[in-house]
Amino acid sequence: MKITSPHMGNIYLLLGDLFKRFEVEYIPPPPTTNRTLQLGIRYSPEFACLPLKVTVGNFIEGIERGADTLVMAGGVGPCRFGYYAEVQKRIIGSLGYNFNMITVEPIGAGLVNFVKTFKKLAPKSSIKEIYKSIKTSFIKAQVFDFVEKKAFEARAFEIKKGATNVAVKHATEILNSAFTPTELGEAKAEAFRIMNAVEKKEEEDYLKIGIVGEFFILLEPFCNFDMCEWLGNRGVLVERSVYLTDWIGSSKENPVAGIGEEEIKKAAKPYLSHFVGGEGLPTIGNSVKFAQRGFDGVIQLFPFTCMPDTIAKSILPKISRDFDIPILSFVIDEQTAKAGVITRLEAFLDLIRARKNSRFKAKEKVVETVNC
Ligand code: SF4
Repeated sequence: MKITSPHMGNIYLLLGDLFKRFEVEYIPPPPTTNRTLQLGIRYSPEFACLPLKVTVGNFIEGIERGADTLVMAGGVGPCRFGYYAEVQKRIIGSLGYNFNMITVEPIGAGLVNFVKTFKKLAPKSSIKEIYKSIKTSFIKAQVFDFVEKKAFEARAFEIKKGATNVAVKHATEILNSAFTPTELGEAKAEAFRIMNAVEKKEEEDYLKIGIVGEFFILLEPFCNFDMCEWLGNRGVLVERSVYLTDWIGSSKENPVAGIGEEEIKKAAKPYLSHFVGGEGLPTIGNSVKFAQRGFDGVIQLFPFTCMPDTIAKSILPKISRDFDIPILSFVIDEQTAKAGVITRLEAFLDLIRARKNSRFKAKEKVVETVNC
């Protein structure tokens, strides 16, 4: 069995580690590129949301590398994600490829089914070994998430341009080579030390932007045009509303992002009081939280035709008015070009910088008047 699965941010690091523990060969597809996207567009329905097209392309490129088993996450709820695996199976099957497809449904959809699926993925391991492997790989993936979060914080203030990327690469290598829990504990401490050692300038007057939206687009740098890095390179402190292990973890506390699901729901409630699939509700709740925490702006990213985040987009103007915070939405599909995205981002940064400066001046005036 030679397994492949689609790219989505750091997920290949988690799966690489997990299948090593299962003693099963894992062949990640090559990083997502324009070729991946073109393959997905050619064979997927035109009206499908972008993640389906990109992941079809990933699977084809994984098969081209020698994989014979495709692993895909399943899903429940009112959005198309739940039938991605079935659609992918039919599309790729119709192209004449020979493969086996294994869909990992969420644990909430049935524990027995979940365990059976993992027995198929790890035929040499006992249930106890599978449990231990999942637990250790998950902890490791959580550290990768923390490294990513620390990179968003460091990049905005790095003294030497590119130092954060070098640190991330170094930390990733160290974590990747850790296998036992003891090695993992040491690697975690070393990875954090490396990230904290990035030299930063003292900056008081900087912009803070919160990123919200559909999960896949937020996590996959190819699809979001590496927006977090682009903003960080311009001195903007970026906070993303979601991380891989928060999304797949069962705690509902979102330890990496730092705001639990209950708090997000509570923040969203005046605007949206029920689950609408995907990240519709978290997009609203997190936008409110960013506004309450004094962020200078919010950026929403989601694929064209994504129902949950389209609902959220129609609500965001009210949040923008109520909290007096600029919110910029990007609807992304295969027609979206990087140049257009950057032009809009530059205009957004000019806008929020100008607002910040005028507020600062207004504050100074008040202080002068009081002192008179
Ligand atoms: S959340 Fe949106 S983009 Fe993601 S699968 Fe559902 S409909 Fe498609």
